Amino acid sequence: MSAIKLRLIGFAFAIVMVALMIGWAAHASLKRVTELSDKLTSVQIASFQTADYFQAHLQKLDYALLRYQVRRDPFDRQQFQTGWTNLNDWIDVQRPTLTTTNEQAILDRINEAYDDYFAATSNLLQAIDAKMIPPGDSSGFDRVEIQSQRLLGLAYQLVDAHRESLTRFVADSHKSLSFLRGLIFSSLFLLLILGAWLAGVVYRDMINPMRLKLIESNAIIERQEKLASLGVLAAGVAHEIRNPLTAIKARLFTQRKTLRAGSGELEDADVIGKEIDRLEHIVQDVLQFARPSEPKLVKLSAGAILREVRDLLAPQMQKAGIELRVDASGDAVLNADAGQLKQVLINLVQNAVDSIEGSGRITLRERTGNARLNGQLTPVAILEVEDTGRGMTSEVQKRLFDPFFTTKDAGTGLGLAIAARIIGKHGGALEFQTLVNRGTTFGIVLPLSNGI
Ligand code: ADP
Ligand code: MG
Repeated sequence: MSAIKLRLIGFAFAIVMVALMIGWAAHASLKRVTELSDKLTSVQIASFQTADYFQAHLQKLDYALLRYQVRRDPFDRQQFQTGWTNLNDWIDVQRPTLTTTNEQAILDRINEAYDDYFAATSNLLQAIDAKMIPPGDSSGFDRVEIQSQRLLGLAYQLVDAHRESLTRFVADSHKSLSFLRGLIFSSLFLLLILGAWLAGVVYRDMINPMRLKLIESNAIIERQEKLASLGVLAAGVAHEIRNPLTAIKARLFTQRKTLRAGSGELEDADVIGKEIDRLEHIVQDVLQFARPSEPKLVKLSAGAILREVRDLLAPQMQKAGIELRVDASGDAVLNADAGQLKQVLINLVQNAVDSIEGSGRITLRERTGNARLNGQLTPVAILEVEDTGRGMTSEVQKRLFDPFFTTKDAGTGLGLAIAARIIGKHGGALEFQTLVNRGTTFGIVLPLSNGI
């Protein structure tokens, strides 16, 4: 009971743990989704800033160069040169952040355009140095401006490409994350179903059988209690009857001597005598039922005991026109009380005889096999008493082992109750199969003796 309880608690604990784990995973990945999309948005914003940065710096470069051209202040030239190197470095820094080939290609073109821009500015500076352009004159700058515009256009292209790849990446991430989310939710759902199924299985295979067993054992206990009190009552009555019966029998015996042979009185006395014998038999049955003696177990050959019973009953059977045969070729050995086992067999054979109208056959058989005894699968010998009698209706089957249940005018209804009790005390079981108008087979199931 406690082991089952422990297992149940274990099951429940495992389910809760898995549910918690999945819940945690779901929560963590949802958090991650939010984090990721925030990050992606910020990267997108950064890519706009990239374009701004590039535009601003290029304009600064242009402006420094133009100022130098017009004013010839070496500081302006210096500023242009530093700005140019910085922007060149900045372009190189961008390369690792680009993921698509399209972006890489645009960056290559930017590099080329930047070289062209450099060439254009170098030409202009050479012309200025060669004093081909007088101060204040801005002619020749338009060629630089063309290159700078081209560069700027490319920078915008790069930003577009970058954004496009980011958008694609975001969409892909969203897709895989929502797939992940779906996966988590469906596994949660699956877990719920699994839990319900498990609960169902636990109920079906563990709780329900336990409940049924409890009901069954309650019924058995109730029956045992009833039988016990019935037994006490019956034993009391039987005991009280036994003494007067002995006295009556003794008086009959002396009286019988005074009666004339062949007289009506002697005939009456014989009938009285027979009835007294029957009463004694009943009393003996009742007493045995009420106070069953403990079996004295010895090793017995199943076949031998069947043959003994046959030899004992064969003459009586022959007279009744019933064939009694033994079908025992095995060598099963049992631990049993020979007297009690024989009594059970005789009871069963007697019932078989009673069930046969006219002629018929009774077979005593020995079989071996495995059977569940006291909840354990045990190697057993089965001693069968098979008859070709009238069989039993389901009403009779239900009450078969009840003490005092009988369908016979002269029956006590104790034969099977006693038999079942004896076999129970041997650690065995009494079973039967029956078909109305075909016959009945009773089986005495007893554990095989060890060491055979
Ligand atoms: P009794 O023999 O005194 O009636 P039992 O306990 O031996 O009491 O049997 C109870 C009842 O079970 C019988 O009255 C009979 O109806 C039924 N019964 C037992 N054995 C057989 C059998 N082999 N074939 C048909 N009915 C049987
Ligand atoms: Mg009987």
